Amino acid sequence: MITLNDLKEQSKACTCGNKHIDVVIEKVVISQNALTETIIYLSEKKFQHVTVVADSTTYQVAGEKITSLLKESTIPHQVVVIQPNDQGDVVADEVSLIEAMLGIPQETDVVIAVGAGTIHDIARFSSYKMGKPFISVPTAPSVDGFNSMGAPVVIKGMKTTYQMQTPIALFADLSILQAAPKEMIAAGFGDMIGKYTSLADWRFSHLVNGEPYCPFSARLTREALKECENHVNEIAQGDRKGIRILIEALIQSGYAMLIVGHSSPASGGEHHVSHFWEMKFLQQQKPQVLHGAKVGVSSQVILDLYKKRFKELVASKQQLEALPAGKTDELLKVLENRDEILTVLASLPESSYIGDQLGKLGGAVKPLDLGIDEQLVIESVKNAHKIRSRYTMLKFWNEHTGTHQHA
Ligand SMILES: [Zn+2]
Ligand SMILES: [Zn+2]
Repeated sequence: MITLNDLKEQSKACTCGNKHIDVVIEKVVISQNALTETIIYLSEKKFQHVTVVADSTTYQVAGEKITSLLKESTIPHQVVVIQPNDQGDVVADEVSLIEAMLGIPQETDVVIAVGAGTIHDIARFSSYKMGKPFISVPTAPSVDGFNSMGAPVVIKGMKTTYQMQTPIALFADLSILQAAPKEMIAAGFGDMIGKYTSLADWRFSHLVNGEPYCPFSARLTREALKECENHVNEIAQGDRKGIRILIEALIQSGYAMLIVGHSSPASGGEHHVSHFWEMKFLQQQKPQVLHGAKVGVSSQVILDLYKKRFKELVASKQQLEALPAGKTDELLKVLENRDEILTVLASLPESSYIGDQLGKLGGAVKPLDLGIDEQLVIESVKNAHKIRSRYTMLKFWNEHTGTHQHA
């Protein structure tokens, strides 16, 4: 994993021409006793009042220990345990955001997010809106973005990512992460394996839609993805080495998003499909499934589209030219950049390969494993691009061909 110092230096020295966000993270600790180090950091920083944001599960696995350490060090503190909704899920929605903000007292000068993705989204959003810094204490290696700026939250049923703030420090305790449920570890791997299509979509968006692209950021994501792939067996075993590799990869993917100030390196068509499923589940009041579990599955759906019908379309100049006129600019760009787009597509793995990898971790492989039927898959592939303004091959496909049959 890239060190914080190297990240700061290389990001400053990057010649891609885009503005990079200043990395304000002061400390990243991945160790066996990271909770103790959290308290040392708080003391060094002379924080006068701390609020721990957790849910009932993450309070048990790490929050309790942190509060007892805070007591020992006589640091005044408060705990906010976010309550689940009627389906038993803690969701980063307007209700939870207000719940957190009501629970964080004015005198608090730092918020600690103790939990996985959702608790981080809630703590990141509420601390930022209250003008307070926050510290990240992940309790499971289940998702990337602990250390990026984006807070994906659901407001009135719509999932939207707001750029808020990075933590000022991150403390990942390996013994806690190792004890995380197997499906959360599989989900973390799923979120990483989805980067194949995220990166391909980012490149495509750059070529066709002029989106700023940073090779350094893309390299950070690609390296993190490769590390996970190369160590899939250790990660599946859940041993210390495997879990360290996974959390490092998730953090490095967070860095890649952080320096460019948006999630393009880590989120493409596969994430849009996953968000579509999530919103559908909320509408239908079905219990949520882990973000990374959805991404692992949706990335196979997207790969099937990209590597088959989309590739056939790009490979044929005639077929491209026969597309109905309309958004001609994009079409011209695709024609202009056909060779590179085909190279990008050729570098993507087959969906069955992703399925095999996820199978090794005992994670969900097919939509039905998540309770998602064929109907919803078709509907999501047809419509997922509408929930984000971001440009992807999925968006191009839907806007230009106007038809879709699930492969
Ligand atoms: Zn993700
Ligand atoms: Zn750059």
